[in-house]
Order: sequence, then structure tokens, then C-alpha cells
Amino acid sequence: MTSHELDDDDNAARISNPLNSDEFRRQGHMFVDFIADYYTNIEQYPVTSQLKPGYLRDLLPPSAPFEAEPIEEIMRDIQNHIIPGITHWQHPSHFAYFPCSASTAGILGEFLAAGLGVVGFNWAAAPAATELETVVMDWFGEMLNLPRTFLFSGEAAGGGVIMGTTCEAITVVLVAARDQKLDKIGRGEIGKLVVYCSDQTHCAFEKAAKVVGIQPGNIRAVETNKTTSFALSPDSLKSAIRADVAVGLVPLFLCATIGTTSTTAVDPLEPLCRVAKEHGGMWVHVDAAYGGSACICPEFRHVIDGVEGANSFSLNAHKWFLTTLDCCCLWTKDPNAIKKSLSTNPEYLKNRASESGHVVDYKDWQLTLSRRFRSLKLWLVLRSHGVGNLREFLRGHVAMAEAFERLVEGDERFEVVVPRRFSLVCFRMVMMTLSDNDDDGGGNNLMNKKLLERINGSGRVLMTHAVAGGIYMLRFAVGATLTEPKHVMEAWKVVQQQADAIMQGV
Ligand SMILES: *Cc1c(COP(=O)(O)O)cnc(C)c1O
Repeated sequence: MTSHELDDDDNAARISNPLNSDEFRRQGHMFVDFIADYYTNIEQYPVTSQLKPGYLRDLLPPSAPFEAEPIEEIMRDIQNHIIPGITHWQHPSHFAYFPCSASTAGILGEFLAAGLGVVGFNWAAAPAATELETVVMDWFGEMLNLPRTFLFSGEAAGGGVIMGTTCEAITVVLVAARDQKLDKIGRGEIGKLVVYCSDQTHCAFEKAAKVVGIQPGNIRAVETNKTTSFALSPDSLKSAIRADVAVGLVPLFLCATIGTTSTTAVDPLEPLCRVAKEHGGMWVHVDAAYGGSACICPEFRHVIDGVEGANSFSLNAHKWFLTTLDCCCLWTKDPNAIKKSLSTNPEYLKNRASESGHVVDYKDWQLTLSRRFRSLKLWLVLRSHGVGNLREFLRGHVAMAEAFERLVEGDERFEVVVPRRFSLVCFRMVMMTLSDNDDDGGGNNLMNKKLLERINGSGRVLMTHAVAGGIYMLRFAVGATLTEPKHVMEAWKVVQQQADAIMQGV
């Protein structure tokens, strides 16, 4: 052997095989045990991390190690340095934001996708990744009772795709709508395009509008108010459109929401779609990021009545549907518009299947080229639970939110600010006003801000806040997988204790 030839053993010693099966098995079991123990012990942790900004830099070395480190040592640092810096989203007393509900099926689906390590940008690159996604999106679409025009199995050209987040989904449909409109009115007219939403619409929409080149002054956030529970009024939309058209602007797009982030307002789809079509032929997208999941229960399906008038619909299965982040499901009647905007056809991806026109190449339905095998985890979630259990799971959360709402209503120091929808209760303490108006110089708002700080400062629960119509309110979002009625009772106890302390001036 000459000095520059290596035999296998030598090389293995130099770079230990990063995919050695025995090591994978050993370390994999350690990690499964670690995560299982994490869930067993999760209630021992304060829900929110108690650490200060910069804590981790002080604990870790300034540079990456040159020599390999044993997994045991790395795991020790995870337990000692990472876990204390976690806000525990899977803690049963995490009632903040919207949930991001984990499950065995979701986690293992994610694990399996990483294990297979495929990059399914087109059908040929991993046929099962594409085909499973089309099947699962049809299953889920059917569960939601979406119009058949949104499904692959429908008679029209519709279908669904899985992306990372709602931000991506809205950007994609907005690009499609923009190009469709500019093809009609001329590429140079982009400055005239106007997009509509309500003042409760998620900032994902504003971001998408900026990305696709809508003039900042042409994003209309139509005002809502408490009397309509902060839902977008079709009449207000109509007036806004008319005013724009009168000065020569071109209506492009409406983003309606089912379950707004602040207060779970439900925009009335049927009349909104009618207004959007009659006044300007707009693309309507329905953002049902959180609330959409509830539509698998027949008793909630009415919240998307009228969706047949929309062009696209999305929800985040990683919120309230047991599917690990990230998993945004987007259905559209018109994938061709998206493909027209986003298709690319480089030589190095050419293949017979794509040229046949008989396969879905998801790279043309999304912003990125490479894509994860996300349908695996959704498939595992649907199969491991079944539709019946998934419905019961959601209903359980709604029932717990109802129970919390009754507790709030039963204490005269508090009020429920907007009628509860789904599993979010928006409430506040009211001490300074007798009537519904909030003209108390901001006293109630300040008091509730203080109340929330005290509640979260206890470390026993986590809630967040919203401001709508000038009213500062606390948001109590039920949806963590491990939450049980006792955690809801406990949370209410914390709220009451802190309210007592505020009243006693402690
Ligand atoms: C959470 C949420 C979003 C943002 O979702 P991302 O997936 O983080 O982009 C958008 N809209 C609504 C209504 C939401 O609740």
C-alpha cells in the first residue's frame, strides 16, 4: 500500500461513519427515551423560561469543537442548558398564542421523513412523496367537506399542497393572483393593484403583499368593531372597493379569515366572496390557520359556509391538529394559476414523467424548490387517530374552553370580551367602568396588562394578550395535547389569585 492509499479501516477511524446503523440505533433509543421522559416530567418545569437574554452564550464555548464529542456529553448540555431556556409549548398549562399540538404520530412522521431523507421537488425525485401528498390532501379536504373543486379527485383542476407556513401559502396565491391580473391589465400597472383584508387579519398577509410588490399604500385593512365581534363587514369592504375603483385603482385580492389570531373572529365568506367577485373579480383566499381544523366536526363546518366562492383555502395542521411544525395545508381551485407564476424548467430536472404531463411537480406550486416529505406525518396523524378521535380531541378542547368561559362569567370582576368561538376565551378584568364603553382613560387596559404579567410571572401558566377595538384582553387558548380539565381549573385559580392581589394592592 502506498502512503496515499487508505484502506477502509483507516478511513473509518478518520471519519467515523455518520450513518453507522449500530450507532443510530443506540443514539436513537437514547433520544426517544429523552423525549418520552421530557413529556413524563414536563409539569415539573415552569411553563415559561425564566432566563435572561444572552444566558446561553455565557454557557457555551465560543467556537465549535475541533474533536468529536460523545453523545452523552451533548445530551447533558441539552438537559442543563437548552431545556431551561425552553418555553414549554407542549406543557399542559400552555394557553398562549395558538397551540402547536404535538403527538406521537406527528413526531414519528417527522422522524421518518428525516430518516428517509428524500427531496421531493418533482414526482420523479420521490414518487411516493408526491403521490402521498395528493392523497392525504384529498382525504383532509374531504374531512373538512371542502367543495370538490378544491380536490384532485374533483372534476375540475383543483388540488392541495403542503407548505411550511401560512406566510408561504398566502404569498404563493397572491403571486398567482397578481400575475393573472397583470396579464389582463398590463405588466406596468402593478402600482394600481389593491389588496383587502380586515384590521384583524394576520400580519402574514401584509408580509406577502410587500413581497409581491403591492404598494404599501394599497393594502386596505378594513376597520372592524366589537359589535360584529371584529369580523369583516361585507358592506365596509364594498365601500372600500368602490372608493378605490373610483380613483382608477384595481382590486386584486381579498384575504378573509376564519378564526382571527386576536379574537377568533369569523369573516362571513358567502357575502364577502360575492362582494369580491361582483366588485372587481378578486381572488379570495381563506386563512383558517387555527380555526379551520374545527371544520372536521359537522357542528363547526358552518363557519366556512360560502368557501365555494373562494379561490383558495389554507390551514396550519401544526396548530390545532396534532401535526408537528411545520405543516400548512393549502387547497386551491386553480393550481394552474400558481404553476403559471412559479414554474421553472431547468435542464437538470427534465424527466419523462414531467414531460408526460401526467404527474404533479410540487416545485411549481411553491416558493422553494426542495421540499420535505411532510405528508408522512399528516398521514400518520390521520391514520393513527381516525377522524372520529380527531373530532373528539378538538371537542375536548372546546369543552375545556367553555368551562373556563363559565368560570370567567361567574366572577363579577371579569368579563368575556367577545363571544367564544372554538377553544379561545378572550377575557378581561373590569373594575373601572360600569358600561361597555372603554372610555376609562386606559385604566382597565393597564390593569389587565399588569394582571397578565402577574399570571405569567407565576410560572404556573402561560397566556398572551390581544388588543382589539382599543380593548386590552387576555387570551386563553386551549389546545395543548396534554391539557386536561384540572389544568384549566388550576389556570383559573392563578387568575383569581392574581386578581385578588391586584385588588388588595399587593
Ligand atoms: C398563526 C396564524 C398565521 C401565521 O401562520 P404561519 O404559519 O406562522 O405563517 C396566519 N393566520 C392566522 C389566522 C394565524 O392564526
